[in-house]
Amino acid sequence: MSVTASQNLRIGIDLGGTKIACVVMDGQGAIVHEGRRATPKGDYHGVIAAIAALVHEAEHAVLSGAGKAEAPLPVGIGMPGSISPVTGRVQNANSTWLNGQDFGRDLETALKRPVRLANDANCLALSEATDGAAAGARTVFGVIIGTGCGGGLVVDGRIIGGHNRIGGEWGHNPLPWMTEEDLPAPRCWCGRTGCLETYVSGSGLERDFAEASGRRLTGEEIAAAARAGDKDANAALERLADRLARGLAHVVNIFDPEVIVLGGGLSALPHLYETVPARMRPHIFADEPRVNLKPPRFGPASGVRGAARLWDIAGDDWIF
Ligand SMILES: [Zn+2]
Repeated sequence: MSVTASQNLRIGIDLGGTKIACVVMDGQGAIVHEGRRATPKGDYHGVIAAIAALVHEAEHAVLSGAGKAEAPLPVGIGMPGSISPVTGRVQNANSTWLNGQDFGRDLETALKRPVRLANDANCLALSEATDGAAAGARTVFGVIIGTGCGGGLVVDGRIIGGHNRIGGEWGHNPLPWMTEEDLPAPRCWCGRTGCLETYVSGSGLERDFAEASGRRLTGEEIAAAARAGDKDANAALERLADRLARGLAHVVNIFDPEVIVLGGGLSALPHLYETVPARMRPHIFADEPRVNLKPPRFGPASGVRGAARLWDIAGDDWIF
């Protein structure tokens, strides 16, 4: 596609556990190019090379004629975990082989330009707060429940990265208001016990279902079995909804967001939007609590759209 330099093009990259997505977005929020590659799991230098190849392909695809002078395009990257403000290296990624790497510097060397990096849930929250399911809301909590469980906060269009770059990271808080059914609390990859992520995630759902039913199914298979009337699968989804509700109520009691947007693979379960708000209310410290829980307008593409928007946040508005 041929475009002109006036279109304010920027590149977004979403580094996921299984794939790396790339888009080029124009100034109106339209996607003018898309690319993707499988994530070279466990191969850090392979990930850097894959991102560089996606950026190169994207620029080759959209920059021609007059637009060519505009290269290099700004690049924003959504990633698991975050960059520690103390060490400058990756922390908290559930793709644990990323942890400790000097990801920002290595990307800037490979791409020959400054890059902006943010947690993938922060990118989801930014995307949905800008022109998605939470457009117009002043306070937004974006949640990713997929392989893991992450969260990001946006206030007045700004990402609240936080003093330790863990703003909104609720997945490694313990599951609140535990019951007998939740015990024994599982060990988490992070070294703690009973983290929300061990319950409220694709892997958490699979573990819970297997322990309760003696059957091993993937998250998608559990959802399909529930639709077909499988009692064990429906019970597992009810437990998931109740645990998600307790976790979200905890966040509401601290941050009290106007809108909560779910992302990640489990956000496609319609069941959650039907039952979670009612399950949250008894735990919220308010009379007649208002809960606005929404699916992502842009579905799985929300994270990569938010990554493309990281350079839209100018100067002081960019709170790491
Ligand atoms: Zn944990």
